Amino acid sequence: MAITRESPVTVLSGVGRVRAEHYAKMGILTLGDLLLHYPRAYENRGDVCLLSEARTDAKSAVILTVATEARCVRLRSHKSFLKFRAYDDSGSCEIVFFNQDYLRTVFPVGATFRFFGRVEREKNKYTMSSPAYEAWAEFASLPPLHPVYRMTEGIKPAQIAKDVAAALELLLASEEDPLPSELLERRSLCTLAFAERNIHRPTDTAALAAARRRLVYDEFFCFALGAALTCKREKALGAPPCTNSDISPLTRSLPYELTGAQRRAIEDIARDMASPVPMARILVGDVGCGKTVCAEAAMLIAVQNGRQAALMVPTEILARQHYKELSPFFESLGISCALLIGATTAAQKKRIKDALVCPEESLRLQVVIGTHALLSDGVEFAAPGIVITDEQHRFGARQRALLSEKNTHAHLLVMSATPIPRSLALVLYGDLDISRIDEMPPGRQRVDTFAVDESYRERLNAFIRRLVGEGGQVYVVCPAIEEREESEDELTLAEIALDGTAIKSRPPLKAALTYAKELQEALPELSVAFLHGKMKSAEKDAIMKKFSENEIQVLVSTTVIEVGVNVPNACLMIVENADRFGLSQLHQLRGRVGRGERKSYCVLVAGGEGSRVSGTSLARLNVMRTTYDGYRIAEEDLALRGPGDFLASGEGGTIRQSGGLSFRLADAGEDVTLLTDATLDARELLERDPTLESTPALRAHVREMFTVEAGLIS
Ligand code: ADP
Ligand code: MG
Repeated sequence: MAITRESPVTVLSGVGRVRAEHYAKMGILTLGDLLLHYPRAYENRGDVCLLSEARTDAKSAVILTVATEARCVRLRSHKSFLKFRAYDDSGSCEIVFFNQDYLRTVFPVGATFRFFGRVEREKNKYTMSSPAYEAWAEFASLPPLHPVYRMTEGIKPAQIAKDVAAALELLLASEEDPLPSELLERRSLCTLAFAERNIHRPTDTAALAAARRRLVYDEFFCFALGAALTCKREKALGAPPCTNSDISPLTRSLPYELTGAQRRAIEDIARDMASPVPMARILVGDVGCGKTVCAEAAMLIAVQNGRQAALMVPTEILARQHYKELSPFFESLGISCALLIGATTAAQKKRIKDALVCPEESLRLQVVIGTHALLSDGVEFAAPGIVITDEQHRFGARQRALLSEKNTHAHLLVMSATPIPRSLALVLYGDLDISRIDEMPPGRQRVDTFAVDESYRERLNAFIRRLVGEGGQVYVVCPAIEEREESEDELTLAEIALDGTAIKSRPPLKAALTYAKELQEALPELSVAFLHGKMKSAEKDAIMKKFSENEIQVLVSTTVIEVGVNVPNACLMIVENADRFGLSQLHQLRGRVGRGERKSYCVLVAGGEGSRVSGTSLARLNVMRTTYDGYRIAEEDLALRGPGDFLASGEGGTIRQSGGLSFRLADAGEDVTLLTDATLDARELLERDPTLESTPALRAHVREMFTVEAGLIS
């Protein structure tokens, strides 16, 4: 049988059952999966220095010639080490390997190697223990960048590198490039073969940049193709016209007047829903502008026309909150309403599913609110009317594809609190109509914002104490749970710009867990709790409940609270390592406070302990001090950081996924043009070839990306 990307990893020589199982744990089953397992970073072994110049706090690359024969020293308990001396123009170094006697013949006297590792120095004596080494031939220089793969139990990075190399050899010789060659030319893209080879084993930074550029382009291109094809299918399905759009029961029940912007948005929605062409609308508006009530109106319209409504949100906390807020209103009108989340018991889930497909209209469940559990198997609607997803950037195209695959003839409304810059909206949601809520409900306060560095720690703690003393509550957001796994002398992919430059090391991250402990120690009289995305939902809910009842005063968390949480008594938002967040994300976080009577503040702490914060990152944070307009912030963000934050989801934006579609590489600053180009190219291609008949490889790829079952693209 021919070897393809779908072939299992076991076709590689040396990969047996055991290693295949380890790979499977990493989600790698096929050769194709293996090639997509990009290095997480690259060691820069190209900056060769002399022994005397080697840094002591980081790894260095040195070129040394072996001076003495390798000697093996046996210790008790079956341990041993191998030792020899090697030199360069500045000195001589003792090199030691532990328990690797077989290396004895690798280092003959007179041979030259590039060693990479930490150079220890004591007076004028240098030592390196277990450095990486490569034979150095004077005229054929070694590649400067060395791939670093994510560590996993059972597989050594070197094995991964070897298997990847073998897979590349097997596949790339026989494969055709899925992109039409005229596109490669027009956009100056390298071939896929070159890209895949160089993303794994770059010959130099320029090659890596070219590789990355091609792969990012592919991600965008396929995304755009899939989104356009999904949209076409949705339109073809049709939706029930909902012509009865009297929302006065809703407006009467509200303790406030709708703003003009809210009224206009609801009019847009009502107009769309009255038509048999399915609505595909995105409702964009800053945090706190009042999108929920617009969703409520859309749901009411669906129900008034004998149809059902579903509201999907990205987290269970948010689902519960919406349910608590909306169900009393619906129930007061005799409209049935249920909550369906991962934590719902199996028996209850079954009852809800049955009630959703109930043929008898009077017994049918009319409104369901939940997480993406709603999209899971077995959830069907007898009379679907509208599907609403909140916080769009966490759902997106793939979910829509799933919906349309279920043949759900429904109107679609997506809501986003991330004000998406116009240029990007056209690309990402070019197939959606947009309603913007650009007006805040009256009486909103401005959240005073400060950007500080580590030297303010004491004052900050005092500020927390003061505000809590006055009865207020505090959020603290940290970007990650664990200490970062990369070490400082490695470059991550995201740090390599498309032109191969801009490679920087960053300060260590404040790990949320460690931080929570430190803070509790600093403020022993306060109740500090810690919340993160990997917690069980019952645990999270319990903590959120305590926080909303002011039993917890300081809530330290990762960005799980970013989306939609409402605790009006909270009056201080502290963001640690704020320079690691996108401005839009910071704006969202800031929107968590200033929701009640209390005067509220946002403090952005830049950098980690003992690190200097760069001028540009403070300047960037300072934008937050003076700007409160989400759109302006989004534009600024796009200009400064590129579209990565708008494509990203998950904690701290480190998981590069958009609605289940993964953007593995798309992240760096310069990607905007590439994104725009790819979108234009995709549209143009579809115009010429609406079913992608002429490019079967591409068609297969898009289909795989967008749907689990075949048939989406037909
Ligand atoms: P978001 O757009 O972030 O989802 P919400 O819908 O949660 O915002 O609304 C935020 C708060 O503003 C809620 O407490 C809501 O009751 C209130 N609100 C919404 N619209 C108005 C309005 N027109 N006037 C006064 N308060 C409003
Ligand atoms: Mg909301």
